Amino acid sequence: MKDINVISISGGKDSAAMWLLALERDTPNLKVVFSDVGHEHPETYEYIDYLEKELGPITRIKPDFSQQILRKREVVDTKWRKEGVSERIIQQALEVLHPTGNPFLDLCMWKGRFPSTMARFCTVELKVRPMFDQVYVPIFEGGNQVISWQGIRANESLSQSKMAETEETPEGYTIYRPILNWDVYEVFKQHDKHGIKPNPLYKQGMGRVGCMPCINSKKEELYEIARRFLKKLRGWNAGKKLFQKLLSVDQQHSLLVMTEDMVSMTLLNGRKQLMAEYNTTF
Ligand code: SF4
Repeated sequence: MKDINVISISGGKDSAAMWLLALERDTPNLKVVFSDVGHEHPETYEYIDYLEKELGPITRIKPDFSQQILRKREVVDTKWRKEGVSERIIQQALEVLHPTGNPFLDLCMWKGRFPSTMARFCTVELKVRPMFDQVYVPIFEGGNQVISWQGIRANESLSQSKMAETEETPEGYTIYRPILNWDVYEVFKQHDKHGIKPNPLYKQGMGRVGCMPCINSKKEELYEIARRFLKKLRGWNAGKKLFQKLLSVDQQHSLLVMTEDMVSMTLLNGRKQLMAEYNTTF
C-alpha cells in the first residue's frame, strides 16, 4: 500500500507554491490535478499549461452534472405535471434544461441558482466531490492511501486560522496543509526561488485566481474584471441569459428564489466607468 500525495492546483499562487514545495522535498508518488470548472479566465488555462511544461504532468478532471440535470428534467416532466403546473411552463423548462458541457453553468442549471457567499455550494460540487470521485476513489480501489495537499493559509480568514496542519477525514484520507503558516510574501518568494512566474492575472488587479469572477471577489476586483475583460463577461452573459430563462420558469413554479448574480454586481459596480470607456450600454 502506497501513500499517494495528491495536489489540487487552481492556477493560483498558493497551490503553485505548494507544488513547488512538494518538488523541493522530493515528495514521492505525487499526483497533480486540475479541476476544470469551465469558468476560468483564458490566462489561467494558459498558466496551467505553462506549469505543466515547467514542473511536470497535470491530470485534468471535469465535473459533470448531466445526470443531475436529467433527474431534474424527470421531476419537471412528472412531479410538476402532478402538481398541476401548466403545460406551457413545463415545456419552457424542458426546452432549456439540457447540459451545456460547461460545469459551472450546468451546476447553476441543476441547482436553479448561482452560488453566493451565503450559499457556497460551488467549491464542494465543482472541486471537492469531483476530486473524490474521479481521483481518490480510483486510488483507494488500487489499494492505496491519499494524502490530500491543500494550499490553505491561516491568515486568509478566521475559519482558516482555526484549521490544523493535518486532519483525518471520515472518508478515509488525510488532509495536509503545508503552507498553513505562510504569508503572501513567502508564497511569491517561493515562485521566485524556483524561477516560476505567478499567474499573470495577479498583475492585472486580481486578488484571487479561480472562477472568473469568484463569488468571493471583492468590489475592486469585480471592477477590474469588468474593466479589463469585457469580452469574457459578454460571453458569460450569454450563458447567464440561458440560465435566467430557466430561472424565470422555475419562479413561476415558486421553487426558487431570485438571487443577485455576480455579473449583475459587476456591471453595477463598474457601470459608469464602463459606459464611459467603451461607450456602450448593457
Ligand atoms: S473559485 Fe470561487 S466561485 Fe469558483 S468554486 Fe471556488 S469559491 Fe466557488
